[in-house]
Amino acid sequence: MLTTVTLIKGDGIGPEITESVKRIFAAAEVPIQWEEENAGQTTLAEVGELIPNSLIESIKRNKVALKGPLTTPVGKGFKSVNVQLRQIFDLYQNVRPCVTTEGVQSKFTDVNLVIFRENTEGLYAGLEYFDERLQIADSISRITWAGSYRIVKASFEYAKKHGCKKVTLVHKANILKNAGMLFLKAGEQISKEFPEIEFDNKIVDNMCMQLVLKPQQFDVIVATNLFGDILSDLCAGLVGGLGLVAGANIGDEVAIFEAVHGTAPDIAGQGKANPTALLRSAVMMLHHMGLKDHARRIDRAIDETLKIREQCTGDLGGNASTQQYTDYVIEKL
Ligand code: NAD
Repeated sequence: MLTTVTLIKGDGIGPEITESVKRIFAAAEVPIQWEEENAGQTTLAEVGELIPNSLIESIKRNKVALKGPLTTPVGKGFKSVNVQLRQIFDLYQNVRPCVTTEGVQSKFTDVNLVIFRENTEGLYAGLEYFDERLQIADSISRITWAGSYRIVKASFEYAKKHGCKKVTLVHKANILKNAGMLFLKAGEQISKEFPEIEFDNKIVDNMCMQLVLKPQQFDVIVATNLFGDILSDLCAGLVGGLGLVAGANIGDEVAIFEAVHGTAPDIAGQGKANPTALLRSAVMMLHHMGLKDHARRIDRAIDETLKIREQCTGDLGGNASTQQYTDYVIEKL
């Protein structure tokens, strides 16, 4: 029986990389069928809505979605659709594994960490005010005990399940006396429930330096929304770039899988995009759905493809197009 999954193509490089996933899933005979929907500037132009009701209904029905990137204009313009989807479905965990891959040139050869980014509050809570007359802007960071508790708990549970030794909580509690401290306190309390796992905390600026110097010392990292967002791009840079790093937005009912990267407008429509990050996100989705054999088979084919530089896309120093890379992965299934 086929399970239905919502597919959001996105914009920019979104249509190219979602096409790659569709082809590879079809070749691997993954027992799912896609229900195609979209959001953002595409649907705004087509049907006058940023998040069409049909998309919300589709995700509610299917509980699982794979999502391409969506543009969010800087400054004035529409509110981020990405952030809204995470808030609508209360997808409080943003899970982003950063792992080095054999054959891919990167600064380190042995990084294996996962970032748990709080995904619904902090500076992304939407508490934005602007006083035109006084030229004062407020972007308020809202941290709650309940929000902190559940993301830190999820990070410890993941560490326990995957045999990780350490959870590192990232904060700025020396300056953010309230918001930072609340998050840190939640970490200290939950760590007592998991005595077998080492608990460490780092101030975010020091964390950046430690990651650049010696990322191997980290296992599971848990951070508030903005810090988690920034650290995940930093970590992507440690393992070969944004074209590789996958992500999952997970709530208690619904999960939406998407790459860490954005719409890459500089290369959109040119057949240059690396679909690996979205593919690995789709593999995370298959694990989530219990389709583990299919997940492993596709993962192995990606690993084999990435071992040979010429088979890779330009961001990894190769000269394959998105389509050619997809063909190489399919050959290795
Ligand atoms: P970006 O991640 O789109 O691109 C940053 C750099 O990485 C670019 O040079 C790009 O070419 C490269 N890159 C990214 N993904 C790649 C891939 N798969 N293959 C090869 N190269 C890749 O970041 P940006 O340029 O800051 O943002 C562009 C737009 O994307 C903005 O509107 C932003 O709001 C949006 N965005 C969306 C999401 C999302 O949908 N979840 C996430 C981040 C940014």
